[in-house]
Amino acid sequence: MGEWFGNSWVWNLQWRRLLYDWEIEDLRGLEHMIQLNEPKRDTEDGVLWHSTEVASYPTKCIYAKFNDSPGSSLPNSIAPIIWKNFIPPRAKLTIWLANQEKLKTGDFLVEKGIITQQNAWCPFCRNEIESNSHILFVCRFAWSAWMEVLKWWGLSAPLHMQFSKFSIQWLGLADGRRHRHFWALMFGCIIWSLWYERNLIKFERKIPNLQNFVSSLRIRIGIWAKEMMGSFGCAPNAIYNADSFIMYS
Ligand SMILES: [Zn+2]
Repeated sequence: MGEWFGNSWVWNLQWRRLLYDWEIEDLRGLEHMIQLNEPKRDTEDGVLWHSTEVASYPTKCIYAKFNDSPGSSLPNSIAPIIWKNFIPPRAKLTIWLANQEKLKTGDFLVEKGIITQQNAWCPFCRNEIESNSHILFVCRFAWSAWMEVLKWWGLSAPLHMQFSKFSIQWLGLADGRRHRHFWALMFGCIIWSLWYERNLIKFERKIPNLQNFVSSLRIRIGIWAKEMMGSFGCAPNAIYNADSFIMYS
């Protein structure tokens, strides 16, 4: 991490793997940031909050800061639901990246010269170069999965192919505020599951199978709902009880 030379601290960051070209810029930013805060010997560490006028720390201002970052905000309709712990952290990160079109799909890697177009095909359909929107919405595989989930609720709907518009429409299908939390959970679960499935096919040579994917999706949504049920504030026998959802819905 670093060491003292006299009274000066010198950072020595080490990484478990070689960094990719596109990560070097982030590294420069990190180095610049930590060099602005040089550790001092014989001084005790403390925590100061500078982002508000008063020196107290409201969680709300972190949320506001997230939404102030250019190009990084989730749609207002979904952001509060995503960030308020209704969705596991691993899915929050995937949704965060997907919303900014920063999942490292084939189109990105071709543009950076890391892979050739021959290696950038969508692993689901093998018909198109994969992109964030293709993998999550446009691809026949992904689209069919979304439509299958709608069928569980006796619904069908033409939906947008763009993340924020899609999410707004999706949540609009929920019936009532409490159900919106469940629909947000389903949204997060489907996004995360598509990305996870894509990685299994791409890196572990899994064979794409829509029926199996939709079945596992159903179970995963049920498990997530069960885990998160306390956060919903729902009664155990509520309509979205995870066990009955898996077995009967
Ligand atoms: Zn595809």
